[in-house]
Amino acid sequence: MAIVFIALGANLGDPSSQANDAIEAIKTLTSTQVLQVSPFYRSKPLGPQDQPDYLNAVLKIETTLLPLELLSAVQEIEKNLGRVRKSNRWGPRTLDLDILLYDDLILTSEILTIPHYDMKNREFVLYPLFDIAPELVLPDKQRISDLLQKVPMNNMVRW
Ligand code: ATP
Ligand code: MG
Ligand code: MG
Repeated sequence: MAIVFIALGANLGDPSSQANDAIEAIKTLTSTQVLQVSPFYRSKPLGPQDQPDYLNAVLKIETTLLPLELLSAVQEIEKNLGRVRKSNRWGPRTLDLDILLYDDLILTSEILTIPHYDMKNREFVLYPLFDIAPELVLPDKQRISDLLQKVPMNNMVRW
């Protein structure tokens, strides 16, 4: 079993219902349990500002799926919940599921990078992650509590 943290984001349609649907869908994956769900936060979009605020949350799951299997599974959930993949990154979307951490694995490949390449710079990842895993230490031995000190909340509020 691997312990995995997943970042969830949504800013189109009804973000909280998509978030809840995504969580339910993750619960149905093969030998996967959702162990914890962070509070939902409301944050300003990254990149283009002419789009609605984001709902962000982090999930802690336990799974036997391998990293690439899990990536396919979460991409399938994104698709089923109505995400239309556009060429522009950071554009609006009904649902984004990013794998943040997979045990202590460090993996860099064309389609999957773990830990997520930008997680240390994103308040909408670090704060909900800290909420559910305050003692977490990243594979590079950095503590979540130390990372948080360097990233302000940037007007993020509870959803
Ligand atoms: P960002 O990655 O900056 O949060 P994004 O989530 O909007 O942007 P996507 O369009 O969801 O980007 O994904 C682009 C590609 O990122 C995916 O096709 C996937 O192969 C790749 N990717 C690499 N690492 C990860 C990861 N840890 N979790 C999810 N996708 C990843
Ligand atoms: Mg993302
Ligand atoms: Mg993504």
